[in-house]
Amino acid sequence: MDSWTGHEVPRLPGTGTPLALFDSARQAVAPTRPASPATMYVCGITPYDATHLGHAATMITFDLVQRMWRDSGHQVKYVQNVTDVDDPLLERATRDGEDWVVLAMRETALFREDMEALRIIPPDHYVGAVESIPAIAEQIRTLIDSGAAYRLTDGTGDIYFDVSSASGFGSESNLSRDQMLAFAAERGGDPRRPGKRDALDPLLWRGARDGEPAWEGGPLGPGRPGWHIECAVIALGLLGDQIDLQGGGNDLIFPHHECSAAHAEVLTGQAPFAAHYVHAGMIGLNGEKMSKSRGNLVFVSRMRGDGVAPMALRLALIAGHYRSDRQWTDDTLKTGQQRLHRWRSAARAAGGPGGADLLAAVRGRLADDLDTPGALAAIDEWADQALAGVAPDPHAPSLMADVCDALLGVRVRD
Ligand code: ZN
Repeated sequence: MDSWTGHEVPRLPGTGTPLALFDSARQAVAPTRPASPATMYVCGITPYDATHLGHAATMITFDLVQRMWRDSGHQVKYVQNVTDVDDPLLERATRDGEDWVVLAMRETALFREDMEALRIIPPDHYVGAVESIPAIAEQIRTLIDSGAAYRLTDGTGDIYFDVSSASGFGSESNLSRDQMLAFAAERGGDPRRPGKRDALDPLLWRGARDGEPAWEGGPLGPGRPGWHIECAVIALGLLGDQIDLQGGGNDLIFPHHECSAAHAEVLTGQAPFAAHYVHAGMIGLNGEKMSKSRGNLVFVSRMRGDGVAPMALRLALIAGHYRSDRQWTDDTLKTGQQRLHRWRSAARAAGGPGGADLLAAVRGRLADDLDTPGALAAIDEWADQALAGVAPDPHAPSLMADVCDALLGVRVRD
């Protein structure tokens, strides 16, 4: 599947600062020690609806990781998927009387436009579930052959993963069994389904049903893949047996990332699947959770259509720390717009305080678990002084613009 178009990222002087990130498995901030190249897999959208602010905040988070790694001299190999066949997509298409393929293509195209506008560095591989079905079916056969997967005997043809085959199951999310059962029920799992060996066993392959798309699965029988095995197989195929980072929103901690990791670890015999599991917080709206069921999603494309500058949106989203669940209000956007305006004015100033100090400060803040509020405060302070005409180093405004561009993905040049 085609990715979106990237842009030139300025190279900054000196050496970048090694990045430390909070790892959900270890429940601690730990230094990243990426391989060569650094490998990152981020779970992408299920394209039944447009990109909302929560998606944007998540994608920006991992874009910052990529920018920090690049600044430290690492080459980065980045893979993102599109779950272009799954229950939510099919349900929406049925509800709206639309062809699910057309719906998926349209929303994926809109997502690409949004990502480009937000200046997200594109993944090296942007991969759909549908195009990955032969590879996924093959790995499910491997799991069956090793005894880690089984077929239900109720005639549906559904195949499940046996969580007891994964010795590390639970180590990514650190949840109690009761918590896992609750999240599984809430987030697309089926803990109450009869006939499973364990209530937490996730679906690997859904046998063909009337009115649903299905693909030839060889010995699996016709059907379509589950979501967790999709991400595991795409990541293993393109990035290798163990990766530096798996990322997504914090609603993916369980069951999605736990199950993806379990599939990958059983398939490769190596653990952990990812050195860091990194999760971005949710964006709420005016004190409420933003969700499709509440009908209060704020779409990036809609805001762009209303004339909101994507760079102001980006600045507004990174004004809070990526891990915190945070609220979006009119003031959040207004502050982002004012900051962008001020930074753009400062970048045009005849001079400013020493750019090298600013670069070191921004690198230092971002290296500490992507402390964007701290990085923004350092640039705000620099901008105040530049606009006040203090310490006029004539090279500083140009370096400030490069720092904003390379490390934060915010273009302040006209
Ligand atoms: Zn995923």
